[in-house]
Amino acid sequence: LLRHLCRKLRASGPVTVAEYMREALTNPAQGYYTRRGGIGESGDFITSPEISQVFGELIGIWYISEWMAMGKPNTFQLVELGPGRGTLTEDILRVFNQLSSVLSKCDVSVHLVEVSPKLGKIQARMLTGGKMQPSHKDESAYMKGISKTGIPIFWYRDIQDVPSGYSFYLAHEFFDALPIHKFQRTEKGWREVLVDIDPEVPEQLRFVLSPSSTPATENFIQPEETRDHVEVCPEAGVIIQRLACRIEKDGGAALVADYGHDGTKTDTFRGFRNHKFHDVLSAPGTADLTADVDFSYLRKMTQERTTTLGPIKQREFLKNMGIDLRLQVLLQNSRDTATREQLLHSYDMLMNPENMGDCFNFFALLPHHRLVHPEKKDKAESKSPLPPVAGFNELLLK
Ligand code: SAH
Repeated sequence: LLRHLCRKLRASGPVTVAEYMREALTNPAQGYYTRRGGIGESGDFITSPEISQVFGELIGIWYISEWMAMGKPNTFQLVELGPGRGTLTEDILRVFNQLSSVLSKCDVSVHLVEVSPKLGKIQARMLTGGKMQPSHKDESAYMKGISKTGIPIFWYRDIQDVPSGYSFYLAHEFFDALPIHKFQRTEKGWREVLVDIDPEVPEQLRFVLSPSSTPATENFIQPEETRDHVEVCPEAGVIIQRLACRIEKDGGAALVADYGHDGTKTDTFRGFRNHKFHDVLSAPGTADLTADVDFSYLRKMTQERTTTLGPIKQREFLKNMGIDLRLQVLLQNSRDTATREQLLHSYDMLMNPENMGDCFNFFALLPHHRLVHPEKKDKAESKSPLPPVAGFNELLLK
C-alpha cells in the first residue's frame, strides 16, 4: 500500500489526510479493515463488546426499553454500522431471545453495514454459525443469513442500501474509523494538513501544509473557531444526516458510542498496532487509524431533524443502565475465582475513568416526539408523562 501511495503522490502531489486515511483503512485490496481488521485481544485494539458480554446486553436492554417507550411497534430493524467481529450484535440478540416473551409479537430483522469482506465473513460465522449465503444480484444486500435465534440478517456496504422502515441504529467505534480532514491555523490563515513523500528519505511519508487555503478550509472551518488545529469528518456528517432523515421519516432511534469530545479537542489522529501506539504515516494498511469523534459536529449535522442526547460518559451510561446489578448477578452465579476475577477486571476496564469509563461517550438521536409531546391544543390533560430515556437517565422498566 505504501508503494501504491508513493506512486500516486509522485504522480499527482500531496493528498488530504482524509484521502490517506481512506486508503489506509478501506483500500479494497490492501486496506487495514479489508485485510487485517485486528479487533480483540489477539489483534491491534480491543473494544468494549470484546471485553465483556455485559456491554452488549445493556445495549440490548436500551433498544427494548426504547421500543417499549415508543409504543411497541410491531416491527423494527436493528441496523449496526461497522459491526467488527459481530460480538455486539450477538450479545444484543441473546437479550432479545431471553426477552422473547416481551418481543413476541414483534418482527425483528438485523441489517449490518460492513465494508470489509473479511470482517463480514467473521460476523456471519459468529451470528449465523456459518449459515449464510450471497444475495441475488437484484437484492441490495450482498449477503444474508439467519441468526442462531432465527432472526434474518442482511449485509450491506452502505447505509443507503438498507431498506427504509422503523429502525434502531447502532454505531460503536464506527465514526472514529471514518476519514478526517485536518486543519492548522497559520499566520496566513487556515491551511489544510496534507500527506506527501519525504524528499529526504525514499518511501517515507510526511505531513505538509497546503500552500494556500483549499475548498475544505473554506467549507469546514467555522468563522468563530477558536482552536488552532481542527479535525473534521465530513463522512460522519453525511451519515448522521442520513440517520436523522431516516429517523424523522420512519421512526426509531440511533445510539452512537465512541471516544470523542464536544468540539474542544485538537490533534487526536493516531494509530494502533498490537495494542501499542503506531506512527500514523508508517506502514499504512498494517495499523488501525482513528480520530476522536466530534459530537458537536454530529449534533449540528442532524439539522434538528431529531433530538440529540449526550454525549454522556460511558461509566454514567452503563451505571444508569444497571451494570452494577448485572455484575452482582453474574458474580453470584459464578462459582470459580477465575471467572469472578475476570468479571471484576472487565467491569474495571469498562467503568474506570482511567480505562474506558471517561473517554468513551454515548450519544443518541431520537424523534422529537420521544421527548416532547407533539402540540395538540385540545385534550392537553390526557397527555401522560413521557418515559425518560434509559442510559441518559436511570433505567425504569415496567
Ligand atoms: N463495532 C465494532 C468494530 C469497530 S471497528 C466493535 O466495537 O468491536 C470499525 C468497524 O467499522 C469495522 O467493522 C470496519 O470494517 C467498519 N468500517 C470502517 N469503515 C467503514 C465504512 N466506511 N463503512 C462501513 N463499515 C466500515
